[in-house]
Amino acid sequence: AAASDTGGGSSISGGDSKEFRSGSQKFTFQAEVNRLMDIIINSLYSNKDIFLRELISNASDALDKIRFLALTDASALGDGDDAELEIRISLDKEKNMISLRDRGVGMTKEHLVQHLGTIAKSGTSAFIEQMQKGGDVNLIGQFGVGFYSVYLVADFVEVISKHNDDKQHIWESKADGSFAVSEDTENEPLGRGTQINIYLKDDAAEYADQDKLKELVTKYSEFINFPIFLNTTSE
Ligand code: ADP
Ligand code: MG
Repeated sequence: AAASDTGGGSSISGGDSKEFRSGSQKFTFQAEVNRLMDIIINSLYSNKDIFLRELISNASDALDKIRFLALTDASALGDGDDAELEIRISLDKEKNMISLRDRGVGMTKEHLVQHLGTIAKSGTSAFIEQMQKGGDVNLIGQFGVGFYSVYLVADFVEVISKHNDDKQHIWESKADGSFAVSEDTENEPLGRGTQINIYLKDDAAEYADQDKLKELVTKYSEFINFPIFLNTTSE
């Protein structure tokens, strides 16, 4: 419901912004979401590891969703690689970037706009309140806003997504109050699913390390029912 005040109404036709891809549509984060992101970015919280748990959990949810849809519509799953219900994590040391890719249900442009920025969940303000009382960031997932924990370690994030009902789109944000979404013609087609590119902050450089990632993936894959692969794309 918050979207009616701050969602679609705050969108500005893009193309003129220097910080985003040309031709992208720019949006303002819903006010509470924006406050939440500010808190996360400025958090001195040392256990930043949890971002990976939250992103793996979202990938797993998306895989559950496509698997469920496929029960009544086998064609939803596609064939070849698209039918492989898996999560792939890779590290690009040169770019200081981790990417996490799933072959889950994916997001349409509308989902990207709504779920990653313009609609605040009821948990958003509850989590902000908790944080102001000195609460633990670790609980973020329980408030339904786990995605934003990626900004514990990132200063720039791209979410590339392909849903069966839409073309491939890319969402991007430096968490400075706004985000942009555009049709993605520059990256390889995903087939179906989501890829999150996490550009690490200077103070999160420790995550640009294969052993560290391996340790975290092992830790957070315990209750995940899909295979998770870890590979390095450049040394
Ligand atoms: P929650 O997982 O509790 O719903 P999050 O903040 O972690 O909250 O994620 C917000 C929403 O963004 C999800 O509900 C989902 O709709 C969407 N989302 C996030 N990551 C993915 C993904 N990898 N694939 C598909 N949808 C996603
Ligand atoms: Mg989640």
